[in-house]
Amino acid sequence: MCGIIGYTGSRPAFPIVIDSLKRLEYRGYDSAGVAVLNGGPLHVRKTAGKIADLPLDGLGDAGATAIAHTRWATHGRPTLNNAHPHTDGAGNVAVVHNGIVENYEALRTELLREGRLFRSETDTEVIPLLIERFLERGASLEEAVREAAKLLQGGHAIAVIGAGAPGAVIGLRIGHAGGLVVGRGAGENFLASDLPAIAGAVDRVAYLADGEMTVVTAEGAACTDLEGRPIKKEWRIGRHDPAAAAKGPHKHFMLKEIMEQPESLVSAMRDRVDFNEMRLDLPGFPFDAARVRAFDRVVLLGMGTSYHAAQVGRLMIEHLARLPAEAEHAGEFRYREPVLTPDTLVVTITQSGETADSLIAMQEASRRGAAQIAVTNVAGSEAARLADYALFLNAGPEIAVASTKTFTGSLLCLYLLALRLAELRGALDAGAVAESIHALARLPEQVGRSLAAAGLD
Ligand code: GLU
Repeated sequence: MCGIIGYTGSRPAFPIVIDSLKRLEYRGYDSAGVAVLNGGPLHVRKTAGKIADLPLDGLGDAGATAIAHTRWATHGRPTLNNAHPHTDGAGNVAVVHNGIVENYEALRTELLREGRLFRSETDTEVIPLLIERFLERGASLEEAVREAAKLLQGGHAIAVIGAGAPGAVIGLRIGHAGGLVVGRGAGENFLASDLPAIAGAVDRVAYLADGEMTVVTAEGAACTDLEGRPIKKEWRIGRHDPAAAAKGPHKHFMLKEIMEQPESLVSAMRDRVDFNEMRLDLPGFPFDAARVRAFDRVVLLGMGTSYHAAQVGRLMIEHLARLPAEAEHAGEFRYREPVLTPDTLVVTITQSGETADSLIAMQEASRRGAAQIAVTNVAGSEAARLADYALFLNAGPEIAVASTKTFTGSLLCLYLLALRLAELRGALDAGAVAESIHALARLPEQVGRSLAAAGLD
C-alpha cells in the first residue's frame, strides 16, 4: 500500500515529512499530500503527481506538526481531489489512511443522511466525517478518533492531526492490512508506515498492534487501546542501517514478505478493481468479447511455485469462465509438440519474467500463433515483452528465494483474469461480478487476520 508519515517537534514540519515521504517513493504511489498544523487553521496541499510537485507556497515554516501521505488508490481515481489528507466539513481535522473501509457504503449513507458533504470518491473520507460527528457531540479529538475507529471494518493504518489537539499526531492501527511505527527522536517524534522512512532520525521505535492507538507529541508518545486504556509498549533501539531497517520488525525477508501479503494483494487489485462501481477493468486488455468467445482452450504454464499457481488458475478459469483449461510445467511443454492454435490462450506465470523454461515455452506458443498473457512481477521483463498482455503482480521486490507474496499475487491476478474472461464470455453477469468484488474488498484483511492467527511474527 502507500506511505504515511507524521511528525511533531519544534522544527518546521513540512520539509521533514516531505523528506521522509521521499524515502518511501520506491514503493510507488499515484498522488501525494500533506497537512500542517500551526495552532491556527490546517494547511493542506495535494498533488496528483509526484511528491516534488507538492506546492510549497507558504508552508516552508507553517508549523511543527504535520502528516503526509502517498496514495495508491483503491476507491476513486488518482485525482487531486481524491489525494489524502482528507478533512472534515469544517476543515479542522486532517486524516491520512492506508487500507480499505469495507463498510464504507453503509457509513457514507449514514453520514449523508446526517447532512455531511463528501468531496471525494474515496472510502477514506468517511473517517474525518465520522470524527467530526463525535467532535460535535463534545468528544476530544482523541476520543472522537477512537469512536470513529470502532465503526470501521477492515484493516487500517491512520494518522490524524486536528486543531483540537495542537502539537499532536494521532496514529492508529486496526486489523492487519498495514503497519504503523512510532519513532522517538530528540525533542521530536515520528509516525510512519515503514521504518526506513524515519530510521535515520529516531533512537527508539515501537510498532502498533491491531487495536492500538498513539498520541505523539514533541515530548513523547502515549499508547492506548481503543477503549483509551494505557498500553505499555516495548521500545526497541532504532536501527540506522538501511538494510536492517528494510526488514522492519521481522527477523528475515521471507517473514517480512509473508506478512506483506495483505498489502501486496491490494496492489494486485489496484487500477483493476473499481470498488465504487463494483466493476472490473483490466486496463489495456487486448482481447474483446468476440475474440474471447472464440478461445477454445486455455493453457497455463509455470515452473515451481508458478506451476502451482497455474494449477489453481486452471480451476478458476474453468469454474468462472466455463473455458476448458489445463496447467503444464513450462519445462516439459516444449518437448512434446503441443497442439496450439490462434484460438488457444496461453497464460504464463513467472515471478521474475525471466524464467528460462517459461520463456522458451512462450516462444513456442508465439510460433504457433497462440494468444498470450504473462502474469509476472517485473515490468519490462522478457515475458512481459513476449506476451500480448502482461498482468503485473505489483507485489514489490521479493528478496527471499522462496515465493510467498508473489504466489498469492499470482493467484489474485489469475482470479481477476478468470473474472474478466467470464464477463466477456457472458458466463457471469454484472451482479455476480459485483458479488466477487465485494468479497475481494474483504480479502486483504482476512489474509492479515489469518497470518496474525498463525502467530508467525
Ligand atoms: N482506500 C484509500 C483510498 O483509495 C487508501 C488507499 C491507500 O492505501 O493509499 O484513498
